[in-house]
Amino acid sequence: MEQLLNLIDGTLRPATGGGWLDVHAPATGQVYARIPDSDESDVNAAVEAAHRAFPAWNSLGREGRSDVLLKLAQLIEDDLEGFVSDESRDNGKPLSLARRVDIPRAIANFRFFATAILHFPSEAHVMDDVAVNYTDRQPFGVAGCISPWNLPLYLFTWKIAPALAAGNCVVAKPSEITPLTAYRLSTLCDKAGVPPGVLNIIHGLGPKVGAAITAHPRIPAISFTGGTRTGAEIARVAAPMFKKLSLELGGKNPVLVFADCDFDAMLKTTVRSSFTNQGQICLCGSRILVERSIYARFREAFVERVKALRVGDPSQDSSDLGAVVSRDHMEKVLGYVDLAKSEGGTVLCGGHRVELDGALKSGWYIAPTVIEGVGPECRTNQEEIFGPVVTLQPFDDEAQALALANATPYGLASVVWTSDVQRTHRVARALQAGIVWVNCWMVRDLRTPFGGVKQSGVGREGGVEALRFFTEAKNVCIKL
Ligand code: NDP
Repeated sequence: MEQLLNLIDGTLRPATGGGWLDVHAPATGQVYARIPDSDESDVNAAVEAAHRAFPAWNSLGREGRSDVLLKLAQLIEDDLEGFVSDESRDNGKPLSLARRVDIPRAIANFRFFATAILHFPSEAHVMDDVAVNYTDRQPFGVAGCISPWNLPLYLFTWKIAPALAAGNCVVAKPSEITPLTAYRLSTLCDKAGVPPGVLNIIHGLGPKVGAAITAHPRIPAISFTGGTRTGAEIARVAAPMFKKLSLELGGKNPVLVFADCDFDAMLKTTVRSSFTNQGQICLCGSRILVERSIYARFREAFVERVKALRVGDPSQDSSDLGAVVSRDHMEKVLGYVDLAKSEGGTVLCGGHRVELDGALKSGWYIAPTVIEGVGPECRTNQEEIFGPVVTLQPFDDEAQALALANATPYGLASVVWTSDVQRTHRVARALQAGIVWVNCWMVRDLRTPFGGVKQSGVGREGGVEALRFFTEAKNVCIKL
């Protein structure tokens, strides 16, 4: 049984209280590791260490910090297969996906922000003959970073890399459900030259460790990715303390398919945007809206492709989908299939648990599921399911497509399929979403603003937005 440890002040150690939590492998349903059941006292020790480390880390300067982060990126790359296999085992995702997406993107996060900080400009505003203003952006000290289980290392590094590059020290909590790659990262910090206390990683439960980070008076900024309900709880605690908040929350993303699209490209990508990572990506399209004139053709072709997807052992290249992340999550997702039926929906394919053989018999697998016949106002089309389940709805014209697309409390990502350039601009403008992909999905340039509107979040991550979040702007006005 593997025993993971916290990283506090440069040392790997168990929780102060001595407790442990089990970690399960979704592929088998079996416990394979334990993490420290940390609490407020571990967070306090990490915050003290971070404050002690801050002056020297900040004084290292951009180039010095950049060198350390680039070294960390290189060490992850040198151990690529170790990280890939840990991520797949911990999360249940296909090994091939972790190798193609999760770990390379985690490495890219470090490389991107290690170099972005070298080019991070400060603005100057000259008032003719009166004064000159310049913006001095300084790190604020200690950042709190809390991340979810769906893209464990990818989203963990998406936060800690800009925080560290900007000159802050970090107290971070990975999801208790998928702690393995954050732990593996913590074992590389010393070798990369990360000074003790600069990066602290505390394992444990959200309501204990996450809540202690959120409420800590000496952590002035919280960067959180996770569910909307948790985000609301974090805002409730942090807002009256006037903390900076970046909240990346849930989604119920629409895919708008117009009759004039490139049908084959759309079909191929829509299968991916529906079921990659078992549908457990905040950017997956879960409501597919199809122009009525091609609805029947789409339904037939899409269902045929989805039925051909293979649910199987995450370690096998032949598996398109692996396991969902936990038993609770599997039951939640299947509960939504029952709800859809009770709301008048028809399951066109999937809708059930998949039982594999041998050691995988108790794993948490769900057949990719397509549902039609549920109205836009039904809970199935309003609430985030976050699993391999999509719904189909027809529309008659652009106005109706937009009305359906915008008819949820969420506004994270959306996908539009059309060959009409004018429509592209009109629809992209009118969609209530932080991200619009046109004729593509998941194409990511790390310089672009990333985030959602409505209940999908507050603030933007990525590029200069992240570096601005992790610094305080001070205007200095000098009389001419
Ligand atoms: P949760 O909100 O349950 O958890 C996210 C993190 O917050 C975990 O580390 C969790 O710890 C922690 N946490 C839980 N309760 C508290 C609390 N009271 N105070 C502070 N921290 C707490 O989300 P999931 O892990 O279930 O992730 C799935 C969700 O994340 C989906 O809604 C998805 O849409 C969203 N997401 C959003 C993205 C975006 O960019 N907008 C990207 C990816 C996912 P623990 O694991 O111990 O519960």
